[in-house]
Amino acid sequence: MEFETEAIHVGDEPNLEVGGTGDINTPIHLSSTFARREVDKPTGGYAYSRTDNPTRHALESKLAAIEGAKHGIAFSSGLAAETSLFLALLKAGDNIVAFDDLYGGTKRLLDKVMAKFGVSVTYVDATNSSNVRKAMRKNTRLVWLETPTNPLLKLCDIRAISSIAHEHGAVVGVDNTFATPYFQRPLELSADVSVYSTTKYINGHSDSIGGAIMLSDETLYEKIKFLQNAAGTLLSAFDSYLVMRGIKTLPLRMREHGLNAVKVAEFLESQSAVSKVRYPGLESHPQHELAKRQMNGFGGMITFEVKGGRRAAMKFLESLRLVSLAEDLGGVKSLAEHPASMTHSEIPRKAREELGISEALIRLSVGLENADDIIMDLKATLKAVGR
Ligand SMILES: *Cc1c(COP(=O)(O)O)cnc(C)c1O
Repeated sequence: MEFETEAIHVGDEPNLEVGGTGDINTPIHLSSTFARREVDKPTGGYAYSRTDNPTRHALESKLAAIEGAKHGIAFSSGLAAETSLFLALLKAGDNIVAFDDLYGGTKRLLDKVMAKFGVSVTYVDATNSSNVRKAMRKNTRLVWLETPTNPLLKLCDIRAISSIAHEHGAVVGVDNTFATPYFQRPLELSADVSVYSTTKYINGHSDSIGGAIMLSDETLYEKIKFLQNAAGTLLSAFDSYLVMRGIKTLPLRMREHGLNAVKVAEFLESQSAVSKVRYPGLESHPQHELAKRQMNGFGGMITFEVKGGRRAAMKFLESLRLVSLAEDLGGVKSLAEHPASMTHSEIPRKAREELGISEALIRLSVGLENADDIIMDLKATLKAVGR
């Protein structure tokens, strides 16, 4: 089956067996526990909803299908997914080699939580794969990548880095939140684990916080499932239903996000008041060739700088009308934010600036409104801030 068909059908097959009700959509199973006939065997296959729940199970089969993976696991947030992977895989004394441009919350988790448990992190500029090779140590158990990165939309070569990591016996995890499996398939590029904040494009409607891990390695799957049950990092049945509903239109939404983003990026590039427009689909993106090779589309995220520094950026964000000033991304509504004071504010200023997260930087999640309306809002706002 093709992506669109799997996104709609897998996990939502009507049950027409005796006793089945033929639901077109898998319902929300709001039961914390499940009665059984025999003491030592759950009669319907389910025992307790922390361990497994029919709605979550249906979502997990859909997640696996759209990734082309053997398994999907749904978590209460993207960070819960990351935490579960890290705790399942790592122990004190282990090392992680990580891309130096990451979602701010991931950095906080690594530096302020994992560090307490004796796990060290070596940050490298993974846009150059040889930096990863140089950083690998004997105790490196995990190579952690994000591509395109949040917020600077840098790319790294998943295939090349996976081959380096595997030579050293390390697992490769890719935070594929920005691209989604529709535009990028980390497992097919030899990574071991794809990780998502489903809060973003996968659910797509800004109404659920969730996360997911997709993978095919049985041993690692068993470890993560065990950890999820032990730590309780699961996604609720209600949210599982929402994410399933979101996935049904993921291909359509991603195509439209991509089309809108190209138009908006080209508009921004044409504006004299705007500098450094970053979008992997633009020829001006330093890794446009890698993007074309590694991705099937470029997504809906753009970052740019407005001339006039922090003050101009603030004024710009506060003057937008159609586009909302908010954290989060990947929903149907366009959102813009200021990474230096919002999503990435916990990274010390100096480190932020070395990475390129300047005070003038604006992150834009291009939604599914008509592109002309989005552009009109941006144009009027640039004019209003006198730029
Ligand atoms: C939002 C985000 C996360 C964290 O996900 P939550 O669902 O907010 O916990 C992780 N990685 C990336 C790239 C994100 O954008």
